[in-house]
This record gives sequence, C-alpha cells and structure tokens, in this order.
Amino acid sequence: MSYVDEVLERVIAKNPAEPEFHQAVKEVLNSLRPVIEANEEKYRKEALLERLTEPDRQFKFRVPWVDDQGQVQVNTGYRVQFNNSIGPYKGGLRLHPSVNLGIIKFLGFEQIFKNSLTGLPIGGGKGGSDFDPKGKSDREVMAFCQSFMTELCKYIGADTDVPAGDIGTGAREIGYMFGQFKKIRGTYEGVLTGKGLSYGGSLARTEATGYGLLYLTAEMLKCNGHDIKGKTVCVSGSGNVAIYATQKAHQLGAKVVTVSDSTGWVYDPEGIDVALLKEVKEVKRARLTEYAKERPSAEYHEGRGVWTVKCDVALPCATQNELLLDDAKALAANGCIAVAEGANMPTTLEATEYLQENNVLFAPGKAANAGGVATSALEMSQNSERLSWTFEEVDSKLQDIMVNIFHNLDDAAKRYGKEGDYVAGANIAGFEKVAEAMIAQGVV
Ligand code: NDP
Repeated sequence: MSYVDEVLERVIAKNPAEPEFHQAVKEVLNSLRPVIEANEEKYRKEALLERLTEPDRQFKFRVPWVDDQGQVQVNTGYRVQFNNSIGPYKGGLRLHPSVNLGIIKFLGFEQIFKNSLTGLPIGGGKGGSDFDPKGKSDREVMAFCQSFMTELCKYIGADTDVPAGDIGTGAREIGYMFGQFKKIRGTYEGVLTGKGLSYGGSLARTEATGYGLLYLTAEMLKCNGHDIKGKTVCVSGSGNVAIYATQKAHQLGAKVVTVSDSTGWVYDPEGIDVALLKEVKEVKRARLTEYAKERPSAEYHEGRGVWTVKCDVALPCATQNELLLDDAKALAANGCIAVAEGANMPTTLEATEYLQENNVLFAPGKAANAGGVATSALEMSQNSERLSWTFEEVDSKLQDIMVNIFHNLDDAAKRYGKEGDYVAGANIAGFEKVAEAMIAQGVV
C-alpha cells in the first residue's frame, strides 16, 4: 500500500467520528501524491505524514456563563494547535452551534497550508465553541467571551498562538476577548488579530480578503494571456468579501454585474454600484431588494441564479458549496475563462473538476482568499514593532503577497508536471515549506 493510503487509513482509524477532518486530510494528501511519491523513503523514515496529521496539541474546555435570566449556561471551547514549524499558531475562532472537535481539526489542518502559502511566518491552528452569538444580548456575549478567554489565555500569546475572528467572531467578540486576556495576564500584546483600529488593529484588514482575491485573479489572468481590465465579472454574496472584491474589480477596470444574498440575487448590467451596496448591506443591513429598488438598471431575482449570467470571470464569495456542477457547466458554456474562490470551499469537488477539465482557470480559496490571514500577519508585525502602517503600505504589501502566492503555486504545479492545476499547486507549495521546516527541526 502506498504511504499516502497507509496514513489515510491510520487517520480514519485514530480519529473516529470526525468526517470533516478525514475529508480535509484526504483532499490534501491526494493532491500531494506526486511530491510524496518522489520522496517516499525519506518521508516514511521521518514519519512526516503521521506527524503532520497529528496536531501538536488540542485543548477542549468547559465555558460556563450566566444568561440574562440568571441561568448558568455551559458551552464547550476548543483550541487546536496544529503545527508551528514555520511560526506561531494562527487561525480563527469559530462561534457556531455546529462546532465540534472534528470541524476545528479540519479547519486547523487546512490553515497550515494556507498560512504557509502566504510566505509569512505563521503556523496553523484553529479554535472556537458551540456557542451561538445570534440572538444573544451584548452582555451575554461578553459573559461568554470572558469565560472562554479565562481558560484560553493559558495557551496563547503573541509569540505562541494568535487567534483571530471567524464565523460568529467579529470585532465585538475580539474586543471582549482581548480585554479579558489583558485583565488576566496583565500584558498588552498582539495576542489576537482583527482588533479595532483604536487598540492595535490594522488598516486595510476589512478590505484585505476581497482586494487580495482580485490581486491574485488579475495575476492569474495576466500569466495566461488575459487582462482583468474590461472583463465582465459575476460575484456571489454581498458580505465583507463580496463587497471589497467588487470594489477592487471596478478599480482594476472590470465590471461586476451580479451580487447575491441568501434569499436572492441582483443582475445589474450597468455594473454594481458599490456605494449603494455598502449602504444597503453595511449600514442598513437590509436585503438586496433594497438595492434593486434604488437602482433602475438592476433586476432582482429570488433564489439562486448568479452563475447563469454570461461572464468572463466568476468569483464565488458567499458560502461553502454554492457553485455546483450545473453552475460550472453553465459558466463554461457561457465562455467563462476563470473562477477564483473568495469564500472557503464554495465550489463542489465535481464542479471544480469540470471547470479544470474544460480549461477554465481555477484558483482555490486556500490561495485566493489568503489575503485575510496575510493581513492578520501584517497586524502581528505592526503590534510587535508598536507601529501602525498606512493603508497604502498595508495594501501594497498585500498586493505583493498575493502576486507571490500565485507564482508559488504556479511554479509548484509546473515542477510536478501539473501545469495549470492550481489546486495541486497550492497544496504542494504550502506543504513543501512546512515539510522542509519540520525535517530541519528534528523529531519534535
Ligand atoms: P459575510 O457574513 O460578511 O457575508 C456572507 C455573504 O454570503 C452574505 O451576503 C450572505 O447573505 C451570503 N450567503 C450566505 N449563505 C448564502 C447562501 N446559501 N446563498 C447565497 N448567499 C449566501 O461573510 P464574509 O464575506 O466574511 O465571508 C464569505 C466567505 O468568505 C466565507 O466562506 C468565509 O469563510 C470566507 N472568508 C472570509 C474571510 C474574511 O476575511 N472575511 C477570509 C477568508 C475566507 P445574507 O446576508 O443573506 O446572510
């Protein structure tokens, strides 16, 4: 049996009832087969894959807090410190009722490679809780965050492990957690990223994922003989990633003609009006029907449908599994030349394969949406030197990072005879650096 298959069997046997973790390990190791086969003897002797798939350590803890009725509630907290070969653990905290150890491990494992791809010194980790902030009062959220951090603060630090936001953990939650860390530990350090600008946050973090997506997409197009300028783009979603992807696409001379939310989508052949979209989504927190009402050129449609619109470039920026096989077929039939994932795992496996087989350039989220975590690492740098950089400084570094990421994965794919397969390229490029560091640091 091949080394990869042996390790896959072992991971499934050793981590029962963690299907998401199994899926993530399978996906990554399968795409690494050419690298692993080329180094099989060395990696086996080092037990490299066994070490890579076993977190350095994982914490699971009780999070008791009192609700507004005086009732004690108990949630479960997690932090998985997966791999710190190239830098302190870094990864978000997800607050959602679906959170369990398997989901945190799947996200932590993926984070190792995404962080490595940024070229910045950050290892992989992830954490969270089954707490649901939706419908809770500010006081209840604060009580939860303080209790969560009372335990978590024993394991994290600016040079050890630097958590960030994720689903359910926004500026409010990060603020409460940072306050509690400071109170208990008595130090003012960059222990969390995604902080408010008044207490150590970075300019351009809000824009980073959407802007980064466009920087990488533009480079991918350029290297394949196309120019982003003049292209028609379909975006899905209308949240943080979608809004800033649309803004940057327009700045680069492309025209975004769609956005969506969980109830419907808008087709605006004149190009999405970003100021109006921000007003509707960021200020009024309203549905897209409001956008269509204010904008004579826009049509509103209920349900799904963004991918049926003819475009040159498709940017799924909403949620997981939102671009299905039929959507991929419609995009390819309409002459789409590139798909780049702003969201995490928005394209199903079959849709990805179909796009790749039909010569549509495909940039996986691991690379294409890495601008968010990269800018979090820039926040860490600013905190360490106790300085704040200007918006332009951060943005220009972000641009360099995204262009570099594209070339790293392009080169990696070419080296293993998989030219143009950016999914394999991303996993290989992310893995190579971590593998080299692990071997250099000995059996630890
Ligand atoms: P937001 O919550 O700001 O926005 C999500 C958007 O997607 C909303 O417009 C939401 O609509 C829409 N949406 C949710 N579910 C569906 C659905 N089933 N069909 C259509 N639209 C849907 O999230 P972000 O923009 O921050 O994140 C989007 C994706 O990008 C996620 O996968 C996230 O993990 C990923 N990501 C985000 C990063 C960041 O820095 N923000 C970094 C890296 C990845 P509605 O308003 O109706 O809920």
